[in-house]
Amino acid sequence: MGVSTSENHERKPTVKHEINVADLRRRLGERRVIPIDILLPRLEVVASHTTDHPVVGEVTVESIERGVTVTGHIDLGWEGECRRCLEPVSGRHPVEIMDIYQVGAPGDVDEIVELVDDMIDLITMVRDAALLGLPLAPLCREDCTGPDPDRYPTVTEEQLEASERPPDPRWAALGDLDLRN
Ligand SMILES: [Zn+2]
Repeated sequence: MGVSTSENHERKPTVKHEINVADLRRRLGERRVIPIDILLPRLEVVASHTTDHPVVGEVTVESIERGVTVTGHIDLGWEGECRRCLEPVSGRHPVEIMDIYQVGAPGDVDEIVELVDDMIDLITMVRDAALLGLPLAPLCREDCTGPDPDRYPTVTEEQLEASERPPDPRWAALGDLDLRN
């Protein structure tokens, strides 16, 4: 590959992005800021998906009793189609991250993740946040009124349907009469 600009540089999905919080947990209230720059495999919901660019953001890991909290955000870029006019639409917005990792996390509380070997898997965390952040029913603009009538004339569609419809049986019967006469 001769071209080496960053845009042409093909990046593989980040397979591992774990952080060890053992050091941090030696003192309660200790904090560390972790930049996020993760290329996820494409995530998709009904009407939108993530872009081919890395997800960037920043989280602060803070030591608490029996674990850490992770708070911050990712900057989520997405693409999809407008739910009314079906034109392509894209956007970018911050998605908040607020997780608690604890040793001996109560199994019935979804918000608290079991902390195993003082390791936090940032990929799972970012993937979950990205999935939640993808818009389910995006709009190209708030007042989108739907398909452009000039481009998608509804009459034409009906006419098309009519032309494909089998002939009315009553006309067929007339045709039979004609044949007999
Ligand atoms: Zn639209």
